[in-house]
Amino acid sequence: MNKKFVPVCTAYLSGNEKKYINDCIDTGWISSAGKYIVEFEKAFAKYCGCKYAVAVTSGTTALHLALASLGIKKGDEVIIPSFTMIACAFAVCYTGAKPVFVDIDEKTWNIDVSKIEEKITKKTKAIMPVHIFGNPCNMKEIIRIAKKYKLHIVEDCAEAHGAEYNGKKVGSFSSISAFSFFANKNLTAGEGGMVLTNNKKYYDKCRYLRNMSYSLTKPRTYEHDEIGFNYRMTNLQAAIGLAQTELADKYRAMRIENNRLYKKFLSGVEGIIFQQDEKNSINVHWMNAILIDEKKYGKTKDRLMKFLKENNVDTRLLFTGMHKQKSLKQYGCKITGNYKNTEKLTKSGLYLPSSSNLKTTQIEYVCNLIKKFLKTGN
Ligand SMILES: *Cc1c(COP(=O)(O)O)cnc(C)c1O
Repeated sequence: MNKKFVPVCTAYLSGNEKKYINDCIDTGWISSAGKYIVEFEKAFAKYCGCKYAVAVTSGTTALHLALASLGIKKGDEVIIPSFTMIACAFAVCYTGAKPVFVDIDEKTWNIDVSKIEEKITKKTKAIMPVHIFGNPCNMKEIIRIAKKYKLHIVEDCAEAHGAEYNGKKVGSFSSISAFSFFANKNLTAGEGGMVLTNNKKYYDKCRYLRNMSYSLTKPRTYEHDEIGFNYRMTNLQAAIGLAQTELADKYRAMRIENNRLYKKFLSGVEGIIFQQDEKNSINVHWMNAILIDEKKYGKTKDRLMKFLKENNVDTRLLFTGMHKQKSLKQYGCKITGNYKNTEKLTKSGLYLPSSSNLKTTQIEYVCNLIKKFLKTGN
């Protein structure tokens, strides 16, 4: 058995990363101009089946830029799932708009599409579905609702590089979409993000706002008509991102295989619940999250996490609901309400180790511990 520390998630860099980084250093192109930015944008857009891509500094800034390019502003509302990473809510707040929460589905852990319409008001401008842990949302229903109420869709694909719904990659279903390339995501650039769109107008607006609203067409003057941002990615980050994109299918397959092995080794263990895949989709399993049904498993999640830690296995808690975030109060969000499925995940869930390059023996080791813990007196 492998007694070495098993981290919850580390980056796996197995392609041209070093070669491209060295090229940046050798040529001196280390800032936000350089060939890797353009190549990364092109390669990633092509991989996702989108026309245009704009590389930025993070998934959070990608979400903000996407919303800003659509003209979302103070007085508007944007619907987001209550169970997600805080970046979704913060990005909405940066525009001055208010995030409005919808609970998640009990099985898929994605936004509950049957509860979206009751949250739509005259102020609603967009829906932000989040493909949580790599599981594509029910885009058919979200598109139907968006059309009916004339709303934008801003897909948050930060955890879902290469995930598919009805044979199409996520990120290509909406007005505009956002990805993250943080170190623990399925593809990484160290830090980084990307906005994808098929709409030339949004594309130009994103490029304009990304670079301090310098004109895209006129000779450079230092007069700025709108408030812009410095969300420029560096050529160094793009060099890593491009190398990762070249191997996107390999990394995707590794994450999917990890999940298959977890399910195989834990099958038959009472009280362990996995995320259910959305219909007609490919879930890319960014993280292997499990819920512990205490009554059936017989022990609490906290005790299991402690036991795994003692045996050199790292785990993490799942997100706390958006309706519990004090930081959002000043934006008019109600920090109350019944989001029972979100709360269930927060209370009973944990992430198991999920790096792309986990070995089968490591996954088996983790699963054996989970089984062994049942027999201990702890
Ligand atoms: C990671 C993540 C983000 C933010 O990405 P960063 O690159 O860390 O800013 C946004 N949304 C979701 C769902 C994420 O998991």
